[in-house]
Amino acid sequence: MENKSNIKNNSPRRHAGSLYLLSLGCAKNLVESEFLLWRLKTDGWNIISDPAKAEVIIINTCAFITPAIEESIDEILSLAENKKNGACKKLIVAGCLPQRFEKEISESMPEVDYFVGTGAFHKIPEIASINKRKKIFFPDPNLSPFPKPNQKRIIQNKKSVYLKIAEGCNRRCSYCIIPKLKGKYRSRSVFDICSEAEALTKEGAKEISLIAQETTIYGKDLRVASDFSELLKRISEKAFLYSKDIIIRVLYTHPESLDEKIIKTIAQTKNIASYFDLPIQHASDNILKKMGRGYNAEKLYEIINTIRDYAPNAVLRTSLIVGFPNETEKDFKRLYDFIKKVKFDHLGVFTYSGAKDIPSGKIKKKVTKKIAEKRYKTLMKKQAEISFEKNQKRIGETYKVLIEEEEKGVFTGRTWFQAPEVDGIVYVNALADNKLEKGDVVSVKINEAAEYDLFGTPI
Ligand code: SF4
Repeated sequence: MENKSNIKNNSPRRHAGSLYLLSLGCAKNLVESEFLLWRLKTDGWNIISDPAKAEVIIINTCAFITPAIEESIDEILSLAENKKNGACKKLIVAGCLPQRFEKEISESMPEVDYFVGTGAFHKIPEIASINKRKKIFFPDPNLSPFPKPNQKRIIQNKKSVYLKIAEGCNRRCSYCIIPKLKGKYRSRSVFDICSEAEALTKEGAKEISLIAQETTIYGKDLRVASDFSELLKRISEKAFLYSKDIIIRVLYTHPESLDEKIIKTIAQTKNIASYFDLPIQHASDNILKKMGRGYNAEKLYEIINTIRDYAPNAVLRTSLIVGFPNETEKDFKRLYDFIKKVKFDHLGVFTYSGAKDIPSGKIKKKVTKKIAEKRYKTLMKKQAEISFEKNQKRIGETYKVLIEEEEKGVFTGRTWFQAPEVDGIVYVNALADNKLEKGDVVSVKINEAAEYDLFGTPI
């Protein structure tokens, strides 16, 4: 085994080879992959979409919870087939899966040529051009640098883009592996973030979603400390210079760092959507304590009331975990009553995913899969009722819709209160002379509403 991270930063040779990259997992992974693709393209690689024809295959993996681990392994094994039946000469597996299973992975997957941890992701262009077999690269994740200022990305959807403002996490939620995989919290500089927001807006973005493991704690670790409210105002001003109808959306807030100043800034800044993505995970104080979340139900009510005081039409999204070890019927009832009372607009539920390498994995008293799934269904059933009720009130209203897809003449898109990939959509019944195109922003009158999706006609 060679020295993990000792790769000389020699200028890469220009390549005419073909390369395929698969990005799995979260939007943060996607942004990393988009920056990497640009560097590889600049190095001369021909980025293709058919893995069978690619000489180099790169997989940016996810290992957050068991289903994500299984998906990553399935994708690696199926893409590895291209080493036998395709043009693939080099298979590079990067990101969270090798980082999480650093010790055992290289033995268990002989078909993979290079394993690259989260701390060496930026080294992939060099690794792609090495011709020696079998290397593993696992430097300290805390050392992984941010993209250079003004570095470009190959973005799939230029109209709706993610903007990553920080990496890592300092919290220690007992069910979460991310701090181990991504290291401690590191904010990007205000200058880099604003430069990228400006570039994305100039390139036609209609929606910028701000992402990190936790957005609302931004800036506290910077040498010249800053805070998230200030950053929001700077991004809003920059974007407004180039687009009057751009939407800026804040994702991944945390109840502990979402303070009144940030709530006020989001609620009162013109081009920032009054959309609050607030993952509470649970609402029973007993379980919140065991999760190590650092807040209780009373604090959650306080935050939600403050949001609704500043922005009565605010939209709230949350995510929950059911089946956490020791979760009793009483704990679940508290969560259920909380959801019934607060009426979130959007809600995602996950069944707890235990593992030996997370603190909660050591808690003896487990909840059975059957009970966890029953609680999952119970919550989703209640949320479907709440969402249906809320959507009915949107009939007759008119909203700006960013058109994203078109199939057989049916256009779909999203409004400011629908985040990409996780919330409902709007089906736009375009009349013949509407001449809609992907990327258009059109005013749509809602004339029908289902549990999660809306239906309307352009006006
Ligand atoms: S805040 Fe908690 S759940 Fe979120 S990334 Fe950090 S440790 Fe994980």
